[in-house]
Parts: sequence; C-alpha cells; structure tokens
Amino acid sequence: LEPPDWLDASHARLTDARRLQHLRDVHRAQPGDRLTVGALDGRIGRAELLTLDDAEATLRIEALDREPPPPLPVHLLLALPRPRMLARTLEHVAALGVKRLTLLHTARVEKSYWQSPELRPEKIRQHLLLGLEQARDTRLPEVAFETRFKPFLEDRLPALLANRRGLLAHPGMPAACPRGIDDPTLLAIGPEGGFVDYEVERLLESGFEGIHLGERILRVETAVTALLARLF
Ligand code: SAM
Repeated sequence: LEPPDWLDASHARLTDARRLQHLRDVHRAQPGDRLTVGALDGRIGRAELLTLDDAEATLRIEALDREPPPPLPVHLLLALPRPRMLARTLEHVAALGVKRLTLLHTARVEKSYWQSPELRPEKIRQHLLLGLEQARDTRLPEVAFETRFKPFLEDRLPALLANRRGLLAHPGMPAACPRGIDDPTLLAIGPEGGFVDYEVERLLESGFEGIHLGERILRVETAVTALLARLF
C-alpha cells in the first residue's frame, strides 16, 4: 500500500488492474477474506477484504505490526542486462532481499540498452515491486546507474569497497564462490557476454576477489540467484 491507496488510517482502496487481477484470479479472494498486506514504509500486517469488483477492492486494515524479512548485506553491481532479461532479474533481486543495486556499463553491454523504456523509473519500480510482493517484503531497493565504467572505477568504487568485501563473479577464477558469509559485500556480475579481460584485471586490482560457480556458465538472472543463494 502506498499513499494513493489509503482512504484513511484504517481503510485502503486498490485500483491497480494487476493487483485486482491477482486478487481475483490467483488468490480467488472473496469479501470477508483476510489478506497479508504491506505498506511501503516498511510495515506488514493483515487486512479484511471488504469489497472486490473489476474496478476496485476495499480493505479494512486490522494491523500493520510486523517487520519485513531482514535485507541481505549485499550491494549488487550488475552489468546492465539486455532489456528482456532486466525485468526478471530485477524481480529476483528484490525477492532475494538486495537493497542496493547499481546497474553498470561495461564493454559488452550494448549502448542501446541504456535507451530502453525498461529503464524508466516506473518500470523499474514495477518489477521490483513484483519481487517484493512475492517475498512479502516492503522495502524497495535503491537503484543507481553507472553509465561509464572508468569514472565509476576510479571515482566511486574505492568508497564502496572501503567497508565491503568485493566479490567478482567470473568463470574460471581460481576460488570457488564461498558459502554462507555475513560480511557486507559488493558483488559484481557481468553481462551476457561476460566481463572483458581489461575489466577483470582492473576490478581485481581495485580489491575484488575473483570467484567462480563451477564449470556451468549461467545466464545472468540464474547467476544472480545462484550467487545470492550460495553466499547468504
Ligand atoms: N561467456 C561469458 C564469460 O565467460 O564470462 C559468460 C557470461 S555469463 C552468461 C554472465 C555473468 O554471470 C558472468 O559475467 C558472471 O558474472 C556470471 N556467471 C555466470 N556463470 C558463472 C560461473 N560459472 N562462475 C562465475 N560467474 C558466472
């Protein structure tokens, strides 16, 4: 629930077509049902569904007294995936509990990807919200954009690595991906074509540890989920 959804402190109205369809077709919700609801200020709780039709649903909020699940201590540095893959990747990122994501330009990111309508703030937010709803989380990740690799590396990366462990996921690195760490981490994942040698060298020189996930080369969205699941 966000500000336009509230009628007053204890009632809300949903008019978003996707959510109405989800309530009707996925949950088969009926007036009188009790739902889990989340407010984007972070709280989670319960509500009674009062009415539901094609145009709106009304809810009576019973309580918003629970915290969302804890975030992962990871800042994800992700080479911008192709637009078709970005949507699903953003959903996974949000569902798995990442709260800081930087989308980075690298040599094998097509320049045209940066012009994609998928990068509009409302589209990014929509994909992140889908992931949050799936995971019953209410804290939106912060998303930053770094459209030039070298200035990012020289001007902003040192501060990010000052208080985080840097892990660079790249096939063929000597160390296997560690399991179950607690450290604040900056995790770098490459584009579909991978990082080029120059980028790998510069990232390692900057303080990243190179890690691999075995011989299977995974698509970006699979690598994101596999790495996060194994690390945290
Ligand atoms: N041909 C590319 C290469 O060899 O780097 C494959 C890139 S892969 C489709 C996209 C990204 O997912 C990689 O840049 C890396 O960050 C991550 N990734 C996928 N499989 C991996 C593996 N087995 N080990 C480490 N990272 C992997």
